[in-house]
Amino acid sequence: MPELPEVETVRKGLEQKLNNFIINKVEVCRDSTVAFPTNKEEFIKGLQNSLIYKWDRRGKYLIAELKKLENKNIQFPQEKFSINNGFLVVHLRMTGYFKFINNLTQPCKHTRIRVFDKNNKELRYIDVRSFGQMWWIKDGLSPYKIIKGLGSLGPEPFSKEFNTNYLKKVIAKRTKSIKAILLDQTIVAGIGNIYADESLYSAGISPFREAQTIKKNELIRLKESIVTVLKKSIGSGGTTFSDFRDLEGENGNFGLQTNVYRRTGKECRKCGNLIERQKITGRSTHWCPKCQK
Ligand SMILES: [Zn+2]
Repeated sequence: MPELPEVETVRKGLEQKLNNFIINKVEVCRDSTVAFPTNKEEFIKGLQNSLIYKWDRRGKYLIAELKKLENKNIQFPQEKFSINNGFLVVHLRMTGYFKFINNLTQPCKHTRIRVFDKNNKELRYIDVRSFGQMWWIKDGLSPYKIIKGLGSLGPEPFSKEFNTNYLKKVIAKRTKSIKAILLDQTIVAGIGNIYADESLYSAGISPFREAQTIKKNELIRLKESIVTVLKKSIGSGGTTFSDFRDLEGENGNFGLQTNVYRRTGKECRKCGNLIERQKITGRSTHWCPKCQK
């Protein structure tokens, strides 16, 4: 599943490719991808003639701010798009990805949504396992109220709110493992299996530790590790794992080299001990028993 660095990489790609993109036509190839409004015609009509003004990210959600043309008779100078037209929100879940297509081509059978501008340039949403979702939240409604998962997100790892005191507060009296705490999107937004394992390795903390037993100095290290690992991964365009693809449809051999994730049985880069794997709350967890206490 794409995590914060991969979603951020997609966001940057969308921002670059969809500069001044005005939606002329929308085709829904699979109804269940549209999560809101429940009527897909309303979704299609809502998006039509919108300028995709800006792309934001919150946790693993992509949020496009939309603008509408003030007067239909005026021809497209961008500043005329002064009326807010709500938001297009996207969650890629397991296997969703976007592809930007310059020349009209046939969609593959996993194509779920197609968005065209007037020159038939296409933003195509493809999703093999089809867990991904899109919402059009019209102006006046709040995406944070309508999309439950979005409204309940904890702080962004790069925000001021995500600090050692905050972590200390949220782990107090928690008997869950620290790994489970990091995966909880209501505690911190955007971390999934890969970056939880990598951050805990980098901080030298065992993923199995009961959250409340983690000391202040370890929390300082953990916070630093999370920020460093995520930033490093964003810098290299995400990891190659998790079926993640960028806007060119690439899932090549670029990206962050992991220290523990999917390195079971391989030597730890610090101590040479073998990396182990075990499940924690249903998720494969990779760690070095010697470096992580
Ligand atoms: Zn080690």
